[in-house]
Amino acid sequence: MSCEIIQIDGQDCLLSLSNDITERKQAESRLKVANNTLQRLADLDGLTKIANRRRFDSYLKYHWEKAQRERLNLTLFLCDVDHFKAYNDHYGHLQGDACLMQLAKILRAGMPSSTDLVARYGGEEFAIILPGRSPTEGTEIVQHIWQTIQETNLPHTASPTATFVTVSFGGCSFVPGGSIRTARQLIGRADEALYQAKQQGRNRVIFSDLSV
Ligand SMILES: [Mg+2]
Repeated sequence: MSCEIIQIDGQDCLLSLSNDITERKQAESRLKVANNTLQRLADLDGLTKIANRRRFDSYLKYHWEKAQRERLNLTLFLCDVDHFKAYNDHYGHLQGDACLMQLAKILRAGMPSSTDLVARYGGEEFAIILPGRSPTEGTEIVQHIWQTIQETNLPHTASPTATFVTVSFGGCSFVPGGSIRTARQLIGRADEALYQAKQQGRNRVIFSDLSV
């Protein structure tokens, strides 16, 4: 097409065509940047600025399939802020939001690599996806986060179980050759472990060994 234009209109037309192409390339690259920004925003939780539920779902699906295909471990933890309703009732919802933001920051800082993902799962619930992590590695990562929350010592005078904000964690792993067969089962087992953590007095990490 460019040869044809040169023959008809000479140098000027070639220049104009090259300008058109440059402008189009610039517009395409601006559009690409805008699309990437939109995609990032669509995956973020508005309050805590960590991954949202939508991102959790797609990230888990991706790593579940990868773990199946490549026979890799995959560890998942669900976490719930203890007595959060009492916190909101006592300190107000704005302070409740600030508390969730601070916890999200601690959780994110506790992720050792960029493939480890923490997401806001629901109201005061978070989820941690640790691709390629064994039960031992995953539990160590989460125990470290739990320890940091203790040390941060965010006041919660309305809590019946502590004087500061605490979080319960329940986890489990897909291990190749183990008993977990679906991503739903993985979530279910982590949820059961979280329930156990609540039952046993909250503010603890429970790992479901049913997964091995
Ligand atoms: Mg709760």
